[in-house]
Amino acid sequence: MIKIYNTLTKQKEQFNPVEENKVRMYVCGPTVYNLIHIGNARPYIIFDTVRRYFESIGYDVNYVQNFTDVDDKIIKKANEEGKTTDQIVTYYIEETLKDAKNLNVNRATHHPRVTEEMDGIIKMIQILIDKGLAYEVNGTVYYNTSAFSQYGKLSKKVLEELEAGRSERVEITEEKKNQMDFVLWKPKKEGEPFWESPWSNGRPGWHIECSAMAKKYLGDTIDIHAGGEDLVFPHHENEIAQSEGANEAPFSNYWMHNSFLNIDNKKMSKSLGNFKTLREVGEAFGYDTVRFFMLSAHYRSPLNFSGELMEAAKNGLDRIKNAKTTLEFAKSHSKEEQITNEELKLLEELPNFEARFHEAMQDDFNTADALSIIFELVKFANSYAKEGATQPFILKVYELFIKLTDILGILYTHQSSRQDGLTDEQIQEYIEKRTQAKKAKDFKEADRVREFLKDNGIIIEDTREGVRFKRV
Ligand code: AMP
Ligand code: ZN
Repeated sequence: MIKIYNTLTKQKEQFNPVEENKVRMYVCGPTVYNLIHIGNARPYIIFDTVRRYFESIGYDVNYVQNFTDVDDKIIKKANEEGKTTDQIVTYYIEETLKDAKNLNVNRATHHPRVTEEMDGIIKMIQILIDKGLAYEVNGTVYYNTSAFSQYGKLSKKVLEELEAGRSERVEITEEKKNQMDFVLWKPKKEGEPFWESPWSNGRPGWHIECSAMAKKYLGDTIDIHAGGEDLVFPHHENEIAQSEGANEAPFSNYWMHNSFLNIDNKKMSKSLGNFKTLREVGEAFGYDTVRFFMLSAHYRSPLNFSGELMEAAKNGLDRIKNAKTTLEFAKSHSKEEQITNEELKLLEELPNFEARFHEAMQDDFNTADALSIIFELVKFANSYAKEGATQPFILKVYELFIKLTDILGILYTHQSSRQDGLTDEQIQEYIEKRTQAKKAKDFKEADRVREFLKDNGIIIEDTREGVRFKRV
């Protein structure tokens, strides 16, 4: 039984899908005008892991993540660089997909682009107007928040602050009936991209995009809607007003929000200028280290970023990687086929590791606890599934190890220019090269290969069973 902390009710709730064994999941996607920073990488990694977990226990997940490819920031960037908006978005969509791949984040089932979804967006705005939930003034369409009685149900606290006049998150204009009203459609300015609509040649507001795309790809009622906690207000609050207003059905049954990645206890953000791109951190520490780092904390806890913490994360991940190579080495070199009684007794402990791993993940995706159980399994493997153990025993430990690490997606071949970025397969190729050189009595070449691997953070050892390697 999976429990999810639901921002809407502010408590953990048992997960019950709309359709049996299926998850309809929408994660707000990036506005594509720059490279993502590592704060942005947090929701990518977290919600990919949530998806992987559901899939690992047999759910079919329809995972939708949009690209916002029309926006003021994109237009500004295009003007600055003397390019078309199309050139800008095409480039950054490609780069964002590369970043996701480097983080072992799976492709969404659908990656809709706003500019390709105008029909659905315009249709939804028209429905809202017809229902008296939106109104047009001089070509701009606003959502009429006072006509939607449940407005504010997701972010109550933020609204109270707003009413006290302490927030600047709502744009003040003369045209609005109520200052909480927000834009659904706005007329173009000179030189801006536009689409025809019954109200003006222009483009949609940010919030309506997600409501329209969620409806098209997932239906009126979805299971999980997710994003960073800064999206609660106004973005997600407004999505609820639009979708529930237009569809007259509950929009999302569970709302999940990740907490911030901070630097010096301040949110990492473009506007504060205290950000590091995922590229620079990934190249310096390895993209898999970034993934491991994000999973080492619960997604609703703030997480601080620093070079030392990344080093520590790298060391932690290395312990898991080394356990894998040790297990693989032991597995392929053990000649004992007959499992011993002692090993049979030890095997009884395996279901316990697995059960506790699931317990952690089912408790609102507690990846921090899940990782600590993987570390216990590493310790177990290092103690018992090594040289001298029997093949069937090693295999059982290995299978569980792979199963659990795969759910978190932490062991993978990642692209990085970092020196120890050699994959297991590449390392094996070098070892084979060295073995051949030794056979041919070319000791100089054999030493060269050993030195090369050492420079890349790989130590090789000659043992009775053959050559094994270790990352240091
Ligand atoms: P943005 O590009 O600001 O729209 O952000 C894209 C996604 O990253 C959204 O889900 C944000 O909530 C999330 N996000 C932005 N900054 C951070 C941060 N410092 N920590 C965690 N998530 C963030
Ligand atoms: Zn959204």
